[in-house]
Amino acid sequence: MKNRKQRAGLRGQILLVMATFVLAILAILWVFQVFLLKPMYESLKEHELRATSARVADTVGVHDLQAVTDSLARENSICISVYEIIGRDAVMRANSHIHGSCIIHNVTSDSLMNRLYAGARKDTYYTERISENFFVSHGAADVPESIISSRLTVQADGASYLIVLNAEIEPVGNTARTLAVQLGIISVILLAAAAGIALLLSKHISRPITQMCAEAQKLALGTYDVCFDGGNSRETAELGDALNYAARELSAMDAMQKELIANISHDLRTPLTMISGYSEVMRDIPGEMTAENIQIIIDETKRLSGLVNDILDISTMTGGGTRLDCKLFSLTDAVRRTLERYNKLRTHDGYTITFLCDREVYIYADPSKILQVVYNLVNNAINYTGGDKTVVIKQIAEEGKCRIEVTDTGEGIPPDQLPYIWDRYYKVKNYYKRSVAGTGLGLSIVKNILLLHGAEFGVRSEMKNGSTFWFSLPEARQDEEINAHATEA
Ligand code: ADP
Repeated sequence: MKNRKQRAGLRGQILLVMATFVLAILAILWVFQVFLLKPMYESLKEHELRATSARVADTVGVHDLQAVTDSLARENSICISVYEIIGRDAVMRANSHIHGSCIIHNVTSDSLMNRLYAGARKDTYYTERISENFFVSHGAADVPESIISSRLTVQADGASYLIVLNAEIEPVGNTARTLAVQLGIISVILLAAAAGIALLLSKHISRPITQMCAEAQKLALGTYDVCFDGGNSRETAELGDALNYAARELSAMDAMQKELIANISHDLRTPLTMISGYSEVMRDIPGEMTAENIQIIIDETKRLSGLVNDILDISTMTGGGTRLDCKLFSLTDAVRRTLERYNKLRTHDGYTITFLCDREVYIYADPSKILQVVYNLVNNAINYTGGDKTVVIKQIAEEGKCRIEVTDTGEGIPPDQLPYIWDRYYKVKNYYKRSVAGTGLGLSIVKNILLLHGAEFGVRSEMKNGSTFWFSLPEARQDEEINAHATEA
């Protein structure tokens, strides 16, 4: 693998691509215009000669053959002679003379005519290249190369005609040389233009990328006050927006994590201070080893382990390490048993926690995880409910679904903050009461568990009127319930 410094920069790469493209086009032009010019021209000429010869053959029996050959000769710049073969003689029937150096008219060579006749008799169409030397040897100087062809055609009445055509091959050497010089100039101009365009283009593309790269390096070093300017192109602008968003999120996350560490340290310190304080009192002061003091230590220990569990839960869930252990169980019964934990709160602190349900409902889910959801929601409701200390838990079973609603009478949650309460570490502003506040992880754990179950969930909240958190899971079928009873029994 090449290391980063060895890789070509954007500018170099664009320059290379442009130069390769221009050179490829120039190479194609050179091949066609310089090297293939002569062979292509000659092959076109040969093709023209053959086609004209065929057209003459088609019209050889018509009334005014001379007019036809004259027009074809002019049209294609080809000399044409048509002979009727009578016995051993060839009698000229049409003769169209276009160019001065025509072999048919300038060189009277029996051997050539015999060759043309013999060739046409053998293959119907015969063609031959006549070089300049031929003309010199036949006494005609300064005559260009040419192609000569013959065709023998026999008419319905038995008359046979020999069609002889002659086309000059214009010398293309000079044209090819001119083209070569022109192409040389064009090559230089095109290469210079390609280099200019490549530089402009690469500057245009690489400037925002270089800027964003520098900002990203700052971001990597922990400076969140960065701005990614994506320039004018749509793609780089989108990249810039995405990076700006990521920087904002990172900054928010960083702030939240700092706050979380502060909160966790505070929340951990409070029970730890209580535990160590009470333990020391019990050790040093006689008569303080009371059941109440021990209970305080036990309660604070539970608070501590609850906090640690929350943190562990959220890290396993977000790391994708949670597996559900689903079973059929009575949700109604599970909620009822969870609420029994709050009996003490009811009697000592005057909380009214009501569970409304009209029948027992079974669901297929992970019981401990669903209980954690109920527990977190009820805990929040107790923490944030109003002065009347009322919390209502309602079970609504209809249309094959069971919905659990947890309602409190607290201050409610401001609508603009509602979408964020499910986020990790999020705490509603203005609500921060140190004695009540947890880590801001409770609802995030609830959301993760419900998402794992594919459950629907949500919250309705009205300022000054309290909030209702709810979730809904499919009710298990009747036969599954019977099986569950049988298993329990
Ligand atoms: P926490 O451990 O701080 O309660 P949660 O994730 O459970 O964290 O809740 C996130 C935030 O949502 C809380 O800090 C609180 O501001 C708000 N919240 C949760 N439940 C309620 C409720 N029943 N009434 C009012 N606000 C609530």
